[in-house]
Amino acid sequence: MLKHFASDNYSGICPEALEYMMQANGMDGIAYGDDEWTAKAADRFRELFESDCEVFFVFNGTAANSLSLASMCQSYHSVVCHELAHIETDECGAPEFASNGAKLLLGSGPNGKLTPEAIEHLVTKRTDIHYPKPKVVSITQTTEVGTVYSLDELAAIKAMADRYQLKIHMDGARFANAVASLDVSPADITWRSGVDVLCFSGTKNGMAMGEAILFFDRKLAEDFGYRCKQAGQLASKMRFISAPWMGLLESGAWLRNAQRANQCAQYLSEQLQQVEGVKQIFPAQANAVFVEMPEPVIAALRAKGWRFYTFIGAGGVRLVTSWNTTMAEVDEFIADLKSFL
Ligand SMILES: *Cc1c(COP(=O)(O)O)cnc(C)c1O
Repeated sequence: MLKHFASDNYSGICPEALEYMMQANGMDGIAYGDDEWTAKAADRFRELFESDCEVFFVFNGTAANSLSLASMCQSYHSVVCHELAHIETDECGAPEFASNGAKLLLGSGPNGKLTPEAIEHLVTKRTDIHYPKPKVVSITQTTEVGTVYSLDELAAIKAMADRYQLKIHMDGARFANAVASLDVSPADITWRSGVDVLCFSGTKNGMAMGEAILFFDRKLAEDFGYRCKQAGQLASKMRFISAPWMGLLESGAWLRNAQRANQCAQYLSEQLQQVEGVKQIFPAQANAVFVEMPEPVIAALRAKGWRFYTFIGAGGVRLVTSWNTTMAEVDEFIADLKSFL
């Protein structure tokens, strides 16, 4: 068995997603998303989000972010995001590529969160024609360092976005974990908070692959299907992305999976707080815990077979839990850690 707190994409497919995938495989279906699974999954999203949004499905998060940002921007626009944002640090320039050159403007802020002040600073730094025109604010919920924007923080960002006529994009690679953490409705932290477009990850929530892109501002979705096709993101057997989504949404597994991951991370965080020589560097508000620990201890844990990343976010050891993490795994990790200290 692989011992890891590496990422939620190390985990396999959850039973509910797999069950619906098998059901979809029980008969042939219409290709390119013109099938019933895809239509129904889109309807489920509209119910869950209490919104008549446009829904699209793509293979992965980089495509979801890049293509949706490209639909919100012209090539001469810019996107304000946190300096630790996945779109900046982990997408190999795909947002700039997909948008034919829109520039990312990087802001800072504690705990991986963009602040209204940082947004204003970037937007007002230059207003002349020689600098790309700010058009979008992109925020990641939960953030890259396992923190969560509160409703108040989202409202403050919305107010700043309105002041400068900026649209809001949300990278929801761990959106379900944010809903579980805040205990709010999906609508509350998206369109009711001013979010125009959400990229909602199924992959990290328990699917084999697949992300949903929700356009709450339907105008932004104009011709989006063509953009997906041109980018190689139109799945011809789309029903095998949309059916597992149905499994997550109809059964409620999307939220249960996130709740379980968050509970394991909470437990891991509590256990780590009692270990001397280990320091948490961000509040663990969802399914990730970031800690600093001595290099030899990191090496010993790795030698024992534990996998985790040390280069993500602001450095330190990143420990991520997922839908199938168990408390026993947390206990085993803590026991190993203590034995090396
Ligand atoms: C995982 C992740 C993505 C998507 O990554 P892909 O590998 O392209 O699927 C996007 N944003 C964040 C914050 C992520 O953690």
